[in-house]
Amino acid sequence: MAALHDLSVADLARQLKTRDVSAVEVAKHFLARADAHQDLGAYLARDEGVTLAQARAADERIARGDTAPLLGVPIAHKDIFVTRDFASTAGSKMLQGYRSPFDATVVRKLAEAGAVTLGKLNCDEFAMGSSNENSAFHPVKNPWDPTRIPGGSSGGSAVAVAARLAPAVTGTDTGGSIRQPASFCGITGIKPTYGRASRYGMIAFASSLDQAGPMARSAEDCALLLSALCGPDPDRDSTSLDVPAEDYSKALGASLEGLRIGVPREFFGEGLAPDVRAAIEAALQQYEKLGARRVEISLPRTELSIPVYYIIAPAEASSNLSRFDGVKFGHRAKQYTDLVDMYKKTRAEGFGDEVKRRIMIGTYVLSHGYYDAYYLQAQKIRRMIADDFQQAFKQCDVIAGPAAPTVAWKLGEHGNDPLADYLADIFTLPGSLAGLPGMSLPVGFGEGGMPVGLQLIGNYFQEGRLLNAAHRFQQATDFHLRKPEGV
Ligand code: GLN
Repeated sequence: MAALHDLSVADLARQLKTRDVSAVEVAKHFLARADAHQDLGAYLARDEGVTLAQARAADERIARGDTAPLLGVPIAHKDIFVTRDFASTAGSKMLQGYRSPFDATVVRKLAEAGAVTLGKLNCDEFAMGSSNENSAFHPVKNPWDPTRIPGGSSGGSAVAVAARLAPAVTGTDTGGSIRQPASFCGITGIKPTYGRASRYGMIAFASSLDQAGPMARSAEDCALLLSALCGPDPDRDSTSLDVPAEDYSKALGASLEGLRIGVPREFFGEGLAPDVRAAIEAALQQYEKLGARRVEISLPRTELSIPVYYIIAPAEASSNLSRFDGVKFGHRAKQYTDLVDMYKKTRAEGFGDEVKRRIMIGTYVLSHGYYDAYYLQAQKIRRMIADDFQQAFKQCDVIAGPAAPTVAWKLGEHGNDPLADYLADIFTLPGSLAGLPGMSLPVGFGEGGMPVGLQLIGNYFQEGRLLNAAHRFQQATDFHLRKPEGV
C-alpha cells in the first residue's frame, strides 16, 4: 500500500470516509514529516494541539456520516491568509506574532469542506517576490535541489506539496505566485478567474490582481480544492463575483479531440531557455497526440506586461500597506518622539527592502504630476492586454506556453538585482493583468534535473476546461507523480 503522504487528496478522502485511516492518524503522519523536513523552511507556523483537535472533530463528523468532500484531509495555508488558530504574518516582521480575530473566507470554506489545517506556509513578504527570498524569516529550499529557490511568492506552499509535507495547500497569485512556484517545484497549481474566490482575509498586496487558488500534485486534486474554496462572498468582498460555486471534478474526463491550443509566438522568443523550450515543445506534442490542435497566436503586448504590472501592483500596494502604521496591528517601534516619528520608525523597522521599494515606486507613480504619465498609461495598456487575449480566444480554446523562462535558479543568484526577478515574471503577468484563470502543470525536466511547468491560460470562468486539459495530460504521463530524491 502507498505511504499516506503519497496518496492523492482524492484517495485520502476516500480512505478517510471508509475509515481505513483516521483523520488523527493522517494529521500525525504529516506533522511528523514536517518535523523531519524542517530544513526546507516551508512552514512558518504549526501547532500540533490545534491540528489534532481539528482532526478529532473531522473524525467525529465522519463517524456521524457527514459527507463533506475534504473531510479529514490535511492541508496548509500560505501565510497570507489570516487564521484565528495560527499566527498570520504575510512573511513580514511587521506582523510577527499577529493573531487575527477571524478566518479568511477561503480558510473558512475549506474548513467547512472538512479540511484539517497543518499550519501556515512561508512566502515572500506580503507576496512580493519570485523566489521566496523576500520572506523576513528564512528562505525556502527547493526539494529537487536545496541550493535552489522554490519560486515565489508561494514558495513554502509549493515545497510543502513537492516534499509531501501536505497533500494540498493554498497559495495566492497576483502576478504568477501560484503558477511559477508550481512550475519550479514540479507540482500543479491553479489561479482562478479574478473574483472567483473571495479576497476577504487574504492580506492585500494588489487588490485588483490578488487571487487565491489551490496547489497540489494533480489537476484532479486541485479541482477538489478549487470547488470548495470558490464562490461569491458579497458581504465581505465586493469584487467577488456573483457566480455560484462549481464542482470542477465534473469537468474532468472530457476528450481533448479538436481542442484548439493557442501557442503565443511571443512566449517563445529570445529569453526562453533551451531546456524549458524543449520540455514545452514535447508537452505540446503530447497534446497533439491527445487530439488537440495547435494554433499559432499572438499576444503582441506580452513585453509591456512587465512595466505595466510593476506600476499597477506597487501603486495598489503602497495604498494597501498604509494600514501598517503601528497603531492598528502588528509591529510598533519601541522608541519614538512623536506620532510621525512613530510611523516612520515602525515602518522602517517592520518592512523589508522589497516592500519599501514598492511602496516608494507606488507612491511615486500615484503622485500628482506623475499619475497621468505612469499609472493612467499603465491602466490603458492593461486594458489593451486584456483585449489581446479576447482576440486570441477567437482562434483557440486554451493558451499554452511556459510558466517561466527558466527552471528554478540558485538561492542568492539574483542577489541585489530585483529587475532579474521582475523579468522572470514575463509569462505569468499578462494573464494576471487580464484577470484570466491560469495554471501550471509539470511536463518535464530541464537543466540540473529541475522541473518545468506548462502554463495553460483560459478565458474567464474556464477553470474546468483548464483542469480537464491538465488532467488528460496527467492521465497520459507521470510527471506529476515523480518526486525529488530523499522525499
Ligand atoms: N513575482 C511577482 C511579484 O513580485 C508576483 C507575486 C505574486 O503573484 N504574489 O509581484
